[in-house]
Amino acid sequence: MFIDHYHLTEVVNQICINAGTKPGDAQQVASLLVEANLKGHDSHGVQMLPVYIYNISQGHLKPQQHAELVSRTGSSLIVDGLTGYGQIVGPEAIEMGLEVAAELGVAIVALKNAHHLGRIGGMGEQCAARGFISMHYVNVVGHPPLVAPFGGKQPRMVTNPYCCAIPVSGGDPIVLDMATSAIAHGKVRVALNRGDRVPDGSLIDHEGNETTDPAVMFSQPMGALSHFGKHKGYGLALICEILGGALAGGWTSQPENPRPGTIINNMLTVILNPDILGDKELFQTEIRAMLAYLKSSPPVAGVDAVLIPGEPERIARKQRQTEGIYIDDNTWSSIVATANSVQLSTEQINEIANTVDERRRPPIE
Ligand code: NAD
Repeated sequence: MFIDHYHLTEVVNQICINAGTKPGDAQQVASLLVEANLKGHDSHGVQMLPVYIYNISQGHLKPQQHAELVSRTGSSLIVDGLTGYGQIVGPEAIEMGLEVAAELGVAIVALKNAHHLGRIGGMGEQCAARGFISMHYVNVVGHPPLVAPFGGKQPRMVTNPYCCAIPVSGGDPIVLDMATSAIAHGKVRVALNRGDRVPDGSLIDHEGNETTDPAVMFSQPMGALSHFGKHKGYGLALICEILGGALAGGWTSQPENPRPGTIINNMLTVILNPDILGDKELFQTEIRAMLAYLKSSPPVAGVDAVLIPGEPERIARKQRQTEGIYIDDNTWSSIVATANSVQLSTEQINEIANTVDERRRPPIE
């Protein structure tokens, strides 16, 4: 079914409140999950809600937790997410970093123990909106590995995302935001739920043979995701594991660490004020000229135009704001079952999904 982003936000908001989240926080979690759907990343949108609510019931996600500053040394901050919602503790940790970067020109934020941070690009956009460059190195722990190292048959890491966002004056930021696996794990689940295959080169079965069948990740013996770009993606995933996991989080995927069946992200973020490194006019002139030069490349057959990282998400957002967000039947059923598990009846959820006061609907940007 297609559902309007505003109604979908209300559904998620109400489920989070019933699961013990304070209303303002629930609204933020709901908005950021739906924002991932709007930006075309269903894998990191409301599809994750059943996992979040289950993790609350297991004590793995603390719905009222906020980020805590552990220590500050000069421009460096250590922040503990204390297994709060990533959509709450992530932006809070970034906000602490932005304050330091505003003062000193640079900030390094080590965020540990955040429950799933969702779309990392949201935090890149948070920095870019304030004129700062940011780089985010993230690892994923708390459950068994899913991605095989280049040349290996068995998984050893998770999908370790990397993000770099750069503000562009008078325009939209450059936002490179990606899993280091060939596709995000959530996209394998989306493909399974929709009865689709995944792209070539994304998966191997448990014997190491390439396959496009998403079911190999949800049956035993389990297969593995592959990295993007072969050894190069594997190398970047390792850097995220070391900087995000070992340095910021003190918790990598190595087997002596706990795997209680949750999703924890550790993230090392570098926030930089571009003005401290040189001529800010020249920097922006060069960016704009370079982006125009890239876009002037004639597209190959089957491609409409050369795009800049971050642009596909903005195109998806515009389209989905108008057309609605497609939620497949399996995902909707699991959202309804999740609502039921927190004492919201199917009738109540259907009513929220369909009858939100239209006068409160935000204008389409
Ligand atoms: P993707 O492959 O769809 O896009 C990756 C990047 O490439 C984006 O910056 C996008 O703007 C850019 N891009 C896509 N098509 C392009 C084109 N034609 N021209 C130029 N640039 C283009 O993203 P993904 O790797 O599937 O990741 C999806 C999301 O999953 C991300 O938001 C990521 O942060 C998130 N993620 C989160 C976790 C976690 O543990 N929290 C783990 C993995 C991934």
